Amino acid sequence: MDLHGLFFRPSNRIPKELISSFNRDSIQSSIKNIRFAIILCVLLFAGFAILDFYTVPHLYKYFWAIRFLIVIPFSLIVFAISYFPIFLRLGQLFLSLVSIVGGYSILWMIWVTPVEVQNTYYVGVILVLMFSFTFLRLRFVYGFLIGIILFAGFEIVQVCLDVDNLTKVNNSFFMVGALFIGILSSYFHEKLLRKEFLLRRTLEQEKRKTEAINSSLEDRVEERTRRLQEMNEQLIDAKSEAEKSDQLKSAFLANMSHEIRTPMNSILGFTEILSDDEIEKEQSHKYLSIIHSNSIRLLQIINDIIDISKIESGSVEISPTFFKPSKVIGEVLDLFGSIEMNPNGIEILSEYPKESDSEIFTDYTKLIQIIVNLSQNAVKYTPKGQVKIGYKREHKDSICFYVYDTGIGISEEDQKTIFNRFTQVNIDQKTPNKGVGLGLAITQANTNLIQGKIKLTSALGEGSHFEINLPMRYSSSADQSS
Ligand code: ADP
Repeated sequence: MDLHGLFFRPSNRIPKELISSFNRDSIQSSIKNIRFAIILCVLLFAGFAILDFYTVPHLYKYFWAIRFLIVIPFSLIVFAISYFPIFLRLGQLFLSLVSIVGGYSILWMIWVTPVEVQNTYYVGVILVLMFSFTFLRLRFVYGFLIGIILFAGFEIVQVCLDVDNLTKVNNSFFMVGALFIGILSSYFHEKLLRKEFLLRRTLEQEKRKTEAINSSLEDRVEERTRRLQEMNEQLIDAKSEAEKSDQLKSAFLANMSHEIRTPMNSILGFTEILSDDEIEKEQSHKYLSIIHSNSIRLLQIINDIIDISKIESGSVEISPTFFKPSKVIGEVLDLFGSIEMNPNGIEILSEYPKESDSEIFTDYTKLIQIIVNLSQNAVKYTPKGQVKIGYKREHKDSICFYVYDTGIGISEEDQKTIFNRFTQVNIDQKTPNKGVGLGLAITQANTNLIQGKIKLTSALGEGSHFEINLPMRYSSSADQSS
């Protein structure tokens, strides 16, 4: 029964899918007024019972029965139903029934009442009509239909009772007037209801949109803040890294000038002494040997600097070849047989599985440089005890070269920084032939170049274990079963 579309402008039309929620909403928003109206209706019906007593004293009991046994109980039942959810769906129907019951009960009274008092009750029907349109808030279609139904009953009763024409016209005029006013008022009332409903809906939609935008904004702000914090942390790290590197560079420069000056001074000093013709042969041999070892040291420092700058500029190329790992160990041992390389005469042992000496494929020179660097350190930082150089094959697809020593060891704290460039620990320790803090950085970079991994296990006072793990690539002729 939805004829609303015919009467309301498109801007006030409720979309089909929202009609039931509009019905519900219109009842819910005025439920208190509706209940109040029903109670008012009950009171008016009861109040007008006094009129029955005076106008139709011989029929008042009959009328009271209509009032108190039909209309009022029916209205109270609808009042009770208004507390149930069904009222939200069918509220307008129940309220229309209240109007019909009220209106027709009065028409019934007119039917049985004497002609001279009929007019009083005709006004009663008009009252019911006005009441339904205004207080009961009947919506347009319901109000319109109730108006027509009551008007039809009204006219039928007039016609059947053979009321004189003047009265009939007079009554009908009032009735039509009341109907017209009532229908118009319910029309405008509903128009407002619709507008309000649609506005509220748009408002809710906008609110939801704003909430969604707000929450997405919050998410974005959070994300941005998080990213900024991350960037901030990275900047702080970078700053401290830069400061550290700056400090290291200053320390390096200071150390480097000392490292270079010391052998240079000694070379210059002894060369000057040697220029004296009267110097004894034995003495001159001694001085020449000092000049020689200082030159080697100077050369090593220069080599280290050249190596690290080459590595850093990425200009180092590797040229892998096939060779037996034992060859590396042999060469390193030969090198450390000399007094220059092992001035303290530390015992150097070699260890490797003789039975599995199949060829490996890597850069021979780099590998030698790595093992020599580690062995130099081992010899340097082992005042007494022994150094063990070797390799093992615990896994089929890798080989592990190692240099173990029983020297001074490295604390856990220092192990974290020891591979950084220009890092020297125990810097104030009087270690003879101390380097410039580049050896391990070069060793690590060289290990990376040949796709190996360097591992350090050490404890202060207990010595250090350096291991280089290389992925194995066998020569086609090699023993792969080992
Ligand atoms: P350096 O040229 O000073 O030896 P490295 O980079 O080779 O520089 O080594 C850095 C520091 O690591 C050294 O100053 C030394 O204190 C420590 N270190 C390296 N190898 C050993 C080792 N085998 N035993 C104890 N300390 C070591």
